[in-house]
Amino acid sequence: MTQTGKVVAITGASSGIGEATARRLAADGHRVLLGARRTDRLERLTEQITAEGGAAAFRTLDVTDAQDVCAFVDAARTEFGRIDVLVNNAGVMPLSPLATLKTDEWDRMIDVNVRGVLHGIAAALPAMRAQGAGHIVNIASVGAYEVSPTAAVYCATKFAVRAISEGLRQESGGDVRVTLVSPGVTESELADGISDPAAREAMKAYRAVALPASAIADAIAHVVSQPPEVDVNEVIIRPVASAQ
Ligand code: NDP
Repeated sequence: MTQTGKVVAITGASSGIGEATARRLAADGHRVLLGARRTDRLERLTEQITAEGGAAAFRTLDVTDAQDVCAFVDAARTEFGRIDVLVNNAGVMPLSPLATLKTDEWDRMIDVNVRGVLHGIAAALPAMRAQGAGHIVNIASVGAYEVSPTAAVYCATKFAVRAISEGLRQESGGDVRVTLVSPGVTESELADGISDPAAREAMKAYRAVALPASAIADAIAHVVSQPPEVDVNEVIIRPVASAQ
């Protein structure tokens, strides 16, 4: 396999959509830098991708730490010489009714889902601007378009990601592409972090029909592979059988 493709840094690459995206983009010949907190998972994934002929490296990453995200993007440049694409994928979804006042979980969603994306933009934008090209792919959700009970704060974070993405696109100056990818229910570990018993139970039925994470990875591969003058702004991907 030739590795002449783009240099792609992916946050939240230790499971679910991020992991599937790393596998797919590496198989397409892109060079991938994987970031998340569970380093053992990243190490294993990097070994697997490399064994299959792909180019991958990893770095432990906490997206809530702006300096750590800068170091992550710098690592892409050190390892592979540049940063062409940043996939801001890391996210958490501890759903609960507002009245349960799980303020720590609200803060965590804001820190990871919103501040994490902003940290990624702050880390990658200067290098992309200097190169005269780049692509920021932000992973939102169908929850960026509609709100449902127990999901107020999660949806608020995804509405924010949508607003930030659109603002960034308008300001991009013609050299940085911006894409918002919004999955519907997708197989991953996302619902494992729900501590509220009722919300956790409700999610079992809601998440019964789910896309494989590879379906979202396929969409990301598609937007990344567009010609330089084409910017796919938004993609929403749901299971066919899903009403919401
Ligand atoms: P997973 O829980 O499987 O993956 C989430 C990833 O985010 C993990 O790799 C996790 O790694 C990482 N992560 C969490 N916190 C941090 C942090 N502080 N710093 C760095 N990485 C972090 O879920 P998904 O694959 O489903 O989630 C990926 C994205 O897709 C999220 O933004 C989610 O909101 C979005 N999404 C998912 C949907 C679904 O149904 N699955 C639907 C709509 C949107 P680690 O714990 O090792 O740090």
